[in-house]
Amino acid sequence: MSRFVYFFGGSTADGDGKMKDLLGGKGANLAEMCKIGIPVPPGFTITTEVCAAYYDHGKKIPEAAIPQIDEALKKVESTFGKKFGDPVDPLLVSVRSGAALSMPGMMNTILNLGLTDASAEGLARKTGNPRFAYDSYRRLIDMFGSTAMGCEHEEFEHEIHTLKQEKGVKLDTDLTADNLKELVKRYKAVYKKHVKDDFPQDPRKQLYLAINAVFNSWNGNKAVEYRRIERITGLKGTAVNVQAMVFGNMGGTSGTGVAFTRDPNTGANVFYGDYLINAQGEDVVAGIRTPAHIDQLEKEMPVVYKQLVDIRGKLEKHYKEMQDIEFTVQEGTLYMLQTRTGKRTGTAAVRIAVEMVKEGLIDETTAVKRVNPESLNHLLQPQLDPKSKIKPVAQGIAASPGGASGKVVLSAEAAVAHAEKHPGEAILLVRKETSPEDVAGMHLARGILTSTGGKASHAAVVARGWGKPCVVGCEAVKIDEKNQTVTLAGQTVKAGDFLTINGTTGDVMIGKVETIAPTMSGDFATLMRWADRSRKLKVRTNADTPADAQKAREFGAEGIGLCRTEHMFFGEDRIAAVREMILSTTTEDREKALAKVGPYQKADFVGIFEAMDGLPVTIRLLDPPLHEFLPQKDNRAGAEAVARQLGVSVAKVFERVDELHEMNPMMGFRGCRLPIVYPEIGDMQVRAIIEAAIEVKKKGKSVLPEIMIPLVGVVEELIFLKKRAIAVAEECMKKAGVQVEYQIGTMIELPRAALTADQIATEAEFFSFGTNDLTQMTFGFSRDDIRGFMPTYLKEKILSIDPFQSIDVGGVGQLIEIGIRKGREGRQAKHGQHLKVGICGEHGGDPDSVVFCHHAGMDYVSCSPFRVPIARLAAAQAALGTAQRDK
Ligand code: ADP
Ligand code: MG
Ligand code: MG
Repeated sequence: MSRFVYFFGGSTADGDGKMKDLLGGKGANLAEMCKIGIPVPPGFTITTEVCAAYYDHGKKIPEAAIPQIDEALKKVESTFGKKFGDPVDPLLVSVRSGAALSMPGMMNTILNLGLTDASAEGLARKTGNPRFAYDSYRRLIDMFGSTAMGCEHEEFEHEIHTLKQEKGVKLDTDLTADNLKELVKRYKAVYKKHVKDDFPQDPRKQLYLAINAVFNSWNGNKAVEYRRIERITGLKGTAVNVQAMVFGNMGGTSGTGVAFTRDPNTGANVFYGDYLINAQGEDVVAGIRTPAHIDQLEKEMPVVYKQLVDIRGKLEKHYKEMQDIEFTVQEGTLYMLQTRTGKRTGTAAVRIAVEMVKEGLIDETTAVKRVNPESLNHLLQPQLDPKSKIKPVAQGIAASPGGASGKVVLSAEAAVAHAEKHPGEAILLVRKETSPEDVAGMHLARGILTSTGGKASHAAVVARGWGKPCVVGCEAVKIDEKNQTVTLAGQTVKAGDFLTINGTTGDVMIGKVETIAPTMSGDFATLMRWADRSRKLKVRTNADTPADAQKAREFGAEGIGLCRTEHMFFGEDRIAAVREMILSTTTEDREKALAKVGPYQKADFVGIFEAMDGLPVTIRLLDPPLHEFLPQKDNRAGAEAVARQLGVSVAKVFERVDELHEMNPMMGFRGCRLPIVYPEIGDMQVRAIIEAAIEVKKKGKSVLPEIMIPLVGVVEELIFLKKRAIAVAEECMKKAGVQVEYQIGTMIELPRAALTADQIATEAEFFSFGTNDLTQMTFGFSRDDIRGFMPTYLKEKILSIDPFQSIDVGGVGQLIEIGIRKGREGRQAKHGQHLKVGICGEHGGDPDSVVFCHHAGMDYVSCSPFRVPIARLAAAQAALGTAQRDK
């Protein structure tokens, strides 16, 4: 018979820390802590398989699990020396969720389960502390009611608020035992109103309802949304942990806290955390009372503090990882309630990995495997310009580093609405606190500012996970949702106005502060060096300007994989010549106009070649349809301006706009189709490239230009253009009397190109997969028009991820694999040469896609400058096998 339930307690456990898939992270680590002699209240874990079975059986706990649960509960009773439901000295339990991957705050925990009218009275007598007993009872009714039975937590809150007002007290802790007894009565009434039944007086009934509730929460909106954003798939479900309660709310020698074994913001090797005296469970993270720093505990409870410091050391030695721990002290006795790998900023991740190598805890390979490439984003975040004249007006708790400026939004919904209306605009989410309902809006914001909460509050934890700047607990911030304003330091900021936060210092500024680019040094550079030793893939960058090329080189780019030439057409000084070229009706006129554009292009290429001295530079010939360079159809003022600029009639401009208008420009007159019809455009670009190369070579630098022809679908297109390009290049070199090495290759971005790659490769010296277009053309999705359906596709799981973000391995991936295999075969057969293959779509900087590219056998990936380190690390992890991330 299968085992559904795993016991832990004393210094034994049925499971262990490796069994995360089955026991969830929390359950596995509770078992592991027992095994290494750390004090943990006894309990048991119901496996994730039971959760899966629960959903398979129409939301019913499988019959066979029930005797095992009852059995395990008995074992907890005997280990702890109390009986569940005992009216004199009751065992109370917590019911805690926990999936294989940690999902902070996503699932519901119920504390003090097993209390009833009778046992609450027993507990009061036994402990001589009726205040404590009734406080625990009212919390149970609230948590059980709102998490298991669908009551509104707010309504319970309303009751306690009213009672406090009636009694004229400020703090929850000011309420007397009798007050709390009264509160229990009122809570029960709230419960009954919603559930249409009395609060259950049978503890076993409470327990099973609670277990059901945990299973149900697995598919609650919050959990589903979190998994979507974090791209978590393939889990069986959540485990349920039932554990003997210990109490941090028994008075002045009791308390509860959360801590990290190192600073999760900076990575510094210091104990970092918060605690509250006389408090239970979520009080520390809920931001109701402001917690004290863990260092303070040394004075308040020296013995407990020393124990805790020892446990910190023991845990790090054992797990060889930074841990995030939860503990409770009951009348001077310390219990550990949770340990898990701590979430951290990218900055901290890098520092911790590098320092742990120096401390001899882990080796370099482990360090490289451990840092989530995406988290490097954090070190690559813009920092606020220190020279800014704008002074901070308030300070909160620095919860997640980096600087962010944005337009204020006061709710997650407003953030979503704003992002839909003004995609790409910087917004700053300002809230009293955040909750799991807010994650979608939080994700869209550049930064998050809350007026309450501590370092472990929801906002802090979530922002840190994403590498988003965040300031919490900024009490000076007063939010007025009704009038859509925020006041701080006596000034009023309206929703839509700019506010700036510095998540590294906790500063808050009114207005917009400019940001500056980060650099790579110290631990970051060290980790990158280790990564480079392992990777097989080269990493290039997509850069169109010398400045970008330079930046990318600093970040370790080994060449340019995509230099788009069209942006060079847009510059204010050149657009007139470009338009003149487009309006030309004869080849002669077109050539005349192109002769004006040529020198600009050449100058740009010179700058880029110089910056990339010694490294290859792939330059793509003009790709977009020509109408992008003219005013839109209904833009009369624009057309008039162009007409004036070029000395032609407005009618003529409109006539050409009309001619160039396309029903579907993505699949229209663009890419290689342009220079086939207007060869002089391609000639001008090739000439600019080769002349620039000659000029830079003459200065003694090494130049490796690669001319890339876009949107080829049939090999004849390439034959046609290559012939012309070679002729132009030869002519330039002959004229200058200088030879330069150059290559001609193509982008593979049409399914037909991938399928006929063997033929195309006979003419191409390299392939670069343009996966944006390839995805577009494979799915038949226009990238600019997915907004209408993609959200639904993702929500309904028709697609598990947006294929423009991460390569669709099953479809587009197949085309890439076919393209590489056939291309390499074709090149080898005809020329006996290795075909160089890379990728230059946005996917080149997506860690999962990089892993795919590694396995597909590409030579390099190319991505935007700031993603170069991310791609380097992802490439190393791909080469080292499965990355060990945040489990
Ligand atoms: P989460 O997954 O959100 O961290 P937990 O299951 O860890 O939820 O529960 C939240 C908090 O409830 C814990 O940090 C702890 O303070 C309290 N808690 C849970 N179980 C117990 C217990 N057996 N005794 C005392 N407090 C508990
Ligand atoms: Mg917890
Ligand atoms: Mg393309």
